[in-house]
Amino acid sequence: MKKTIETVAIIGTGNMGMPMAINLAKAGFQVRAFDIVLEKLTPLIEYGVIACCSHQDALESAELVLTMLPTGTEVSDVYQNHVIASASRDAVLIDSSTIDLKTAVEIHTLAIENGYRMLDAPVSGGTAGAQSGNLTFMVGGESESLQSVTQVLQAMAGKIVHCGKSGMGQAAKMCNNLMLGIQMVSVAEGFRLAQAVGLSEQTLYDVALNSSGNCAALTAFNPIAGLLPDTPASRDFQPGFSNDLMLKDMKLAIAAAKANSVPLDLAHRASALYQQFSEHGHGSMDFSAIFNLYDIDKDDCGK
Ligand code: NAD
Repeated sequence: MKKTIETVAIIGTGNMGMPMAINLAKAGFQVRAFDIVLEKLTPLIEYGVIACCSHQDALESAELVLTMLPTGTEVSDVYQNHVIASASRDAVLIDSSTIDLKTAVEIHTLAIENGYRMLDAPVSGGTAGAQSGNLTFMVGGESESLQSVTQVLQAMAGKIVHCGKSGMGQAAKMCNNLMLGIQMVSVAEGFRLAQAVGLSEQTLYDVALNSSGNCAALTAFNPIAGLLPDTPASRDFQPGFSNDLMLKDMKLAIAAAKANSVPLDLAHRASALYQQFSEHGHGSMDFSAIFNLYDIDKDDCGK
């Protein structure tokens, strides 16, 4: 059966965008990729992805444009200076980066004013989910637009959730990551205490897995090196999801809470810990490496 969408442009092929591009190519889409760091395109070529030399080159003939960029700053730049100028008006635009609500809605408005359909569709599942094609997509925007791209998202998704109007995908992602960021600190402290009182890490894991301590920070991102295969901790805390990106997400949540007069407590403390770890020069490590902050600066953090 002929696919409705055949050509997908993907802009930003970093830790997430690269495996997403590979899964799209494996599913039979023609994928045109661009990243400002051109070397990041090279590993994609063997999967049949077309490595493009500019934003404009990637956007040519694309029926769907997918952006996977670090922050709202890059997303604004790419849409204002490249996508809106060069993408076909018939293309559906999807931003899967995690960005602030305000920028997401501004970009959406700009896209609609210029005759495009657009969705915000940030993801959860990390690099492992991106590689296995099991990401959860949290989608904000018109349901008709979502329907028109569902076949494409399915090549990368385990679950697609329509969260509501424009910006609500980002809202869902922000709240989810606020919970994960706090969760990781709680798991790190649980294991620290276990070590101190002589309880084995394996035993705490086995117990918490089947008890009320179970959560994604325990299982998918467990911070103990060597305890579980395939966690960032077991590969020298290579991200994964970097400490700096988690810090970014905590700040997005805190800013949104402030703007809406919602008092947060643990989010501020957790965010301060990620900030401190970043200031020690470890921002590019996986966020689960926050476990090691307690070794670096016991005076500040071990109280
Ligand atoms: P990354 O830094 O590895 O990748 C971003 C890529 O964008 C880089 O390769 C960079 O060179 C490229 N880029 C930057 N500016 C550009 C521009 N103007 N034009 C073209 N390319 C540009 O980040 P990542 O880990 O892939 O994350 C991407 C987004 O997904 C972030 O918003 C992040 O918060 C979110 N996210 C990440 C994870 C994760 O586990 N890494 C999970 C869920 C969501």
